[in-house]
Amino acid sequence: MINFTVGPVQSSESVLAIGAEQVPYFRTVEFSEMMLENERLIKKFAHTTEDSRVVFMTCSGSGGMEAAIINTLTKSDKALVVNGGSFGQRFVELLTLHEIPFTEIKLEYGKALKPEHLAPYEGKGYTAFLLQKHETSTGVHFDINLVSDFCKRNDCFLIVDTISTFLTDPFDMEALNAGVMITGSQKALACPPGIAVMALAPSALERIEHTKCCCQYLDLKLALKNQERGQTPWTPAVSVLRQINVRLKEIDAVGGDQVEIARAAHLANYFRNKLIEYQLPFEIVSESLSNAVTPLHPTTQSAYEIFLKLKDEYGIWICPNGGDMKDKIFRVGHLGCLTEADYDKLIAAFLELRGKKFI
Ligand SMILES: *Cc1c(COP(=O)(O)O)cnc(C)c1O
Repeated sequence: MINFTVGPVQSSESVLAIGAEQVPYFRTVEFSEMMLENERLIKKFAHTTEDSRVVFMTCSGSGGMEAAIINTLTKSDKALVVNGGSFGQRFVELLTLHEIPFTEIKLEYGKALKPEHLAPYEGKGYTAFLLQKHETSTGVHFDINLVSDFCKRNDCFLIVDTISTFLTDPFDMEALNAGVMITGSQKALACPPGIAVMALAPSALERIEHTKCCCQYLDLKLALKNQERGQTPWTPAVSVLRQINVRLKEIDAVGGDQVEIARAAHLANYFRNKLIEYQLPFEIVSESLSNAVTPLHPTTQSAYEIFLKLKDEYGIWICPNGGDMKDKIFRVGHLGCLTEADYDKLIAAFLELRGKKFI
């Protein structure tokens, strides 16, 4: 199998090897030290301030999104949220569920965020801003600097879902003055699913301290208190945390986040150039691409049929879309342990399908 989906993605041999080991008991000095190292390396790669903190929650990325909302926002906030696809829609649903007042900036699929989208909300008393740095469902990389500048001018608390772009595109939490950054173990961290990673700036820590969290399991006060000594309130996904440790050290050893980002950029460009070189019948549908994913609209065949064909006959997994995008869009990911040779195989499969008039 070659996996080009957007998560879970392919892991390195050393990460896989940890998965084959017995799960150790975790209330130990050794585990605590490892967790503190994980925190230190996430802070380094997310470019946080020294006094920021990191917690590792045992849940998928969506649990991190919900934890951010219920621990840092209250009914007296007035939030802005960008909704450009299914993950933006998830933020909208969470804000609705938890009764946080908000205004939605709804974007058409594939469209970039522009200054004119934010202009109407300038000086209107908004206190919080939530967005995906990269809306993975449509492959649109939003202009985070635009949002960060708006938040600085308007004194808005910024919550950024970087679940698919942490380690594929630059992210400087301190420079952006972001309050919360959320990512997940199964995207560019290239580990199995099970852990949401949250980086929390001092502005977030203050909000958490003064917010009554409605959920015990996702209470960040408890997570922060325990992480002070490298522990978690509940039994965590121990193996995944060990795999994250191996992976973070691997990235650190080769030069850190910049090198990892350059690797993703190289693979993305390699694939995109091949599409042009062979004039494959796919259109790139995003106005603003990240290095994480290439979203494509096939002009001659249903996107979902292409996904099925590659999976069933070639053992190659591209990423299908759901809902009304099912037949229109498929995505090719550049996350995880992939090489140029893997993309050559994908392109060869596309060429064969074109030869057989399937596409
Ligand atoms: C994958 C993803 C999520 C959701 O993550 P789960 O781990 O499936 O809960 C949220 N936001 C973005 C941008 C994602 O790419």
